[in-house]
Amino acid sequence: MRRLYFFGLLFILFGCTYNNEKPGGNSFKNDDAHFDAFKSLYIENLWKTFPDWASGKGNHKYDGTLSVPTDELRVQEEKFVSAYLDSLKKFDINSLSPKNKIDFYLIGNTLREITWNNTVLKSYQWDPSEYNIAGGVAELLTGSTEKLESRLINIYNRLKSVPAYYAVAKENIKNPTLVHTQLAIEQNLNSLPVLEKDILEAVIQSRFKLVAKGDFEDRIKNAVDAIKDFADWLKNLENTNPHSANLGKKLYEEKFQHEIQSGMTAHELYLRAINRKRELHNKMYATTTSIWSKYMGNLELPRDSLVTIQLMIDKLSLKHVHRDSFQIAIENQLPLLVEFVQNKNLIYIDPQKPLVVRKEPSYMAGVATASISAPGPYDKEANTYYNVGSLTGYTNERAESFLREYNHYILQILNIHEAIPGHYTQLVYSNQAPSLIKSLFPNGAMLEGWAVYTELMMMENGYGNNTPEMWLMYYKWHLRSVCNTILDYSFHVLNMDKEAAMKLLVNEAFQQQAEAEGKWKRVNLTQVQLCSYFSGFTEIYDLREELKHKAGDTFNLKTFHEKFLSYGSAPVKYIKQLMLEDTSAVMH
Ligand code: ZN
Ligand code: ZN
Repeated sequence: MRRLYFFGLLFILFGCTYNNEKPGGNSFKNDDAHFDAFKSLYIENLWKTFPDWASGKGNHKYDGTLSVPTDELRVQEEKFVSAYLDSLKKFDINSLSPKNKIDFYLIGNTLREITWNNTVLKSYQWDPSEYNIAGGVAELLTGSTEKLESRLINIYNRLKSVPAYYAVAKENIKNPTLVHTQLAIEQNLNSLPVLEKDILEAVIQSRFKLVAKGDFEDRIKNAVDAIKDFADWLKNLENTNPHSANLGKKLYEEKFQHEIQSGMTAHELYLRAINRKRELHNKMYATTTSIWSKYMGNLELPRDSLVTIQLMIDKLSLKHVHRDSFQIAIENQLPLLVEFVQNKNLIYIDPQKPLVVRKEPSYMAGVATASISAPGPYDKEANTYYNVGSLTGYTNERAESFLREYNHYILQILNIHEAIPGHYTQLVYSNQAPSLIKSLFPNGAMLEGWAVYTELMMMENGYGNNTPEMWLMYYKWHLRSVCNTILDYSFHVLNMDKEAAMKLLVNEAFQQQAEAEGKWKRVNLTQVQLCSYFSGFTEIYDLREELKHKAGDTFNLKTFHEKFLSYGSAPVKYIKQLMLEDTSAVMH
């Protein structure tokens, strides 16, 4: 969860506002109307209570506020949470429409998660990287569509609180983990150019020009001093008993419930992942041996099956696009994916919403693969972009390694995952589901699960002509999601060390050394997020099979997909409840 701070408490509670209105004859309709009004107030007050969170979600009302994370602030947050949990109790969930039922659960979940973070997880004590003001400032400077002058005034107002903010950060931090301490030092120092350079340049470009330059310079200097002081303080911190980076079983299961919102426990998911890995290894070995002589001639099969698979993957990875055609290859592929989806009748794709492929903007540079930038609910009309990393500046060697990773086969699966019918298609449907709650607080496991599910679904429907090569590379890609879960659980709950982690990722998941190193860093810094891919995938796949079984011959895949996505970006376990109530919705 992002940093949640509170500023300026103002309660307008459901209870006070609506108690006098008695539901009329049609109580179903009335309760939904009440609940809709309640939701609007809730969001308004949530933003008032957590202004930084509001800015991050594209609501610019509180952009000028930097909240200082004091103990009192957390007390106010708790008041907000318990007041709204009380208000929720006033609704009879059974009287709400299916979509409002999900919103009801989501609001309760968000509120309980805030409390759990503040009172149980307490990462504000052990994760110093939560303290960083530059990200928010940079977003104001470049990410918002407001006029430059009003953005600068907001930045100016925020800068005022920076010294107090870092002073409180130092009070909060106790025995931080070593990895998060290191990250905090790096990120805070790396962000200095935003303050020292970017803001001043923007001031000079603005109508304020030099008039305001002096005022800005003073505040920037104080902010920069505070950041440098914070980094020094962290470097010299006497930390003889640092917090462990692994969460342990209890906290891990709890965080998993709050964040992933799965119908399974983390342990159950872990066991599923272990099974899936075994299953994939068997399939991969069988596929490899079936094409062995085609690629390897008379070369004898190695004794170790994992080594055998690795050799075949290396061989197939040599087929890849030229470094200059990476973006054009992606652009050319999208219409083919749309065509395949249409021919096979897999899901309706709105032709009015084309996806714009672009070179990754410079502020994203460095992560040279692909990602989707979608407009938030406050900015619906903006374009959706497929950002493609540029290989400019890569040495030939690095480019070659990258291109082998995103070879001819994997690049297609990547496009399925990111674009069609993966993330991008899901987003179009999500924007049509009129729920601000789900758009603002999408369930990450559902989003990633959908993208991962579509990879297999396309393969099942004959994508890539069912060639063994395509299947083998698909399995390899899928193994990444599976091993993300195994790695996360093993590290945080079973104390897996780096050597064992590298063995898992390199030998058993066939990843490059550099990729595996990156994963090791990520599992040290994050908790449960790496489970979202396999968790969402498993639950969507299970749901589909269950409905298929129930509907028998009348099951229709296209109807299932469209119905599933119509609920918006909600946890699969809630969608499942509603879909199982109405099996006819997935029939012809
Ligand atoms: Zn090559
Ligand atoms: Zn994804």
